[in-house]
Amino acid sequence: MKKPLVIASPKEMRDFARTKQAQSMRIALVPTMGFLHQGHLSLVEKAKSLADTVLVSIFVNPTQFAPNEDLDEYPRDLEGDLQKLVPYNVDAVFAPSVHNIYANHFDTYVTPEHMAQTLCGAFRPTHFRGVATIVLLLFRITLCNVAVFGRKDFQQLQIIRRMAKDLWLDVDVVGMPIVRENDGLAMSSRNAYLSPKERQAARVLNKTLDLVQSLFEKGEHLTEALLQKAKDSLGKEPLAQIDYVNIVDANTLAPITSVEEDALCALAVHVGKTRLIDNCVLSP
Ligand code: AMP
Repeated sequence: MKKPLVIASPKEMRDFARTKQAQSMRIALVPTMGFLHQGHLSLVEKAKSLADTVLVSIFVNPTQFAPNEDLDEYPRDLEGDLQKLVPYNVDAVFAPSVHNIYANHFDTYVTPEHMAQTLCGAFRPTHFRGVATIVLLLFRITLCNVAVFGRKDFQQLQIIRRMAKDLWLDVDVVGMPIVRENDGLAMSSRNAYLSPKERQAARVLNKTLDLVQSLFEKGEHLTEALLQKAKDSLGKEPLAQIDYVNIVDANTLAPITSVEEDALCALAVHVGKTRLIDNCVLSP
């Protein structure tokens, strides 16, 4: 088994994809920012089952970070990532540099509207514009027929689904379950920032979601009541500072007062300097 082919140039990536397309191959893309963990690898495995050609992109996309965020510190390890991908035998890894993508005078962005203004979008107002723009570019460069995303970033998944429909992109957007550590913490490249104490404290995110899920299953469907319990639970962890905890319609992300259809309970919490997100779906 050998390390995957790495392509940095968008033009070479598209020529590679065109060759596959000419052979009537179905192309799957797994977009990532690298520092791969089992969550990312579960998407790669799914992609393998969906297509003939599997491409993984690794790109820390600057336009989705605000100036005060962690772009410079974001963990990077291309060599380690390529090693982790060896057993999956992917067809290529697209790993462009920033100037490969945002060439001189780059001036065209995709701005998702309502769905990007709630939850994380309320705290990161330019984030989903950066995400939608890079994902559209990746779709166009890799000519993918299907793209696999994690439900860890549920809002992102729904915004990309919406974009694919709105812009007739002809890409199937597939969402996969959240992969967790043994104690329930959702895997994330940003978990690498946590000190041992913070790592312990970070368990409160999943514990809170478990609590909401169990209250919901016991019959509490009013969002205000569920959110109060969630805030109480998060409030008990001194190292955790809430950005938001909310329950919204799982498809539109619109506010709801009680859970009548699939709803998303999502939260974002700072543990020390690290901003962590997690979510669960409440299904009546
Ligand atoms: P990132 O590298 O953080 O931008 O994530 C790349 C993709 O992996 C996104 O679709 C994420 O939702 C997905 N992902 C990240 N963490 C997890 C996880 N713990 N379980 C499942 N998917 C994940």
